[in-house]
Amino acid sequence: MLNGHLVDSFITVTLRDLQRCAWCGAGFAPNRGPGRPRRYCRPSHRQRAYEARRLAERAGLTAEEVLVDRGKLGMLNDRLYVLESAIDDVRADLEESADLDTYRGAVVHLLEAAMPLANAHLEPKATGAV
Ligand SMILES: [Zn+2]
Repeated sequence: MLNGHLVDSFITVTLRDLQRCAWCGAGFAPNRGPGRPRRYCRPSHRQRAYEARRLAERAGLTAEEVLVDRGKLGMLNDRLYVLESAIDDVRADLEESADLDTYRGAVVHLLEAAMPLANAHLEPKATGAV
């Protein structure tokens, strides 16, 4: 059931009403009322989190550690490097000139570097051999 505010015949949900899934990070409307609060957006994500914990246990990791795919971790680190470089570029550009065109260019440059990260999500490994 979707929780929210009833306005006329529409239900609105604001971002602060949303809870983040502990597996995928997607926002979802938290359950209200009795019972333990949901941590996952869907049952399959709760199951995958359980499987990831089990896999990490079999690998001898602590409850705070997870296994991740090396390629996906590398891709995420590459995107972070691009963003870090863009920040350095923008900082240097703005030290030279603080006119409107420089700010416009800075915003575009930062958006181009940040947008690939906005959709990036690194999930723990949930299946496979350890
Ligand atoms: Zn989820």
